[in-house]
Amino acid sequence: MITNRAQIARHHLANQSTPAYSLIRKVCACGKASSAKQLVQHDKCAACALAAVRDAIMPGDFAKLQHMLGAVQQYPKSKWGWRNYFAAGSGQQHEAMRRLVVAGLATAGRAANEMTYFHATRLGCKATGLNAAGIKRAMEDAS
Ligand SMILES: [Zn+2]
Repeated sequence: MITNRAQIARHHLANQSTPAYSLIRKVCACGKASSAKQLVQHDKCAACALAAVRDAIMPGDFAKLQHMLGAVQQYPKSKWGWRNYFAAGSGQQHEAMRRLVVAGLATAGRAANEMTYFHATRLGCKATGLNAAGIKRAMEDAS
């Protein structure tokens, strides 16, 4: 009886070790632990990946992204993502939008009357601090 119990226990532990293997934690260059999957895909933890994206754009660009999503202080955070468009004319506004597109934070939509409508991507929503519900809202508004 005792032997059987020990065998059952060992078998149980072996089963548990399998899913744990795919969740092995590794460490990003910043010292923060991250999942091995995240590091293989992005070479850095989620926080560092977002920081790299923010470094690729100008400070004023990020404010435009926030405006695009209504992710500004005058609205409660639970409402962020209630809109997802930015009508850019030519010149500085358009250049800012192009940088957001290159950084993967926005995409260009339809053009009308010398204006181009830009929409935040899922990554853009995440960079702006939207929660899952806000991202869903914003993605629906962009389509
Ligand atoms: Zn990191």
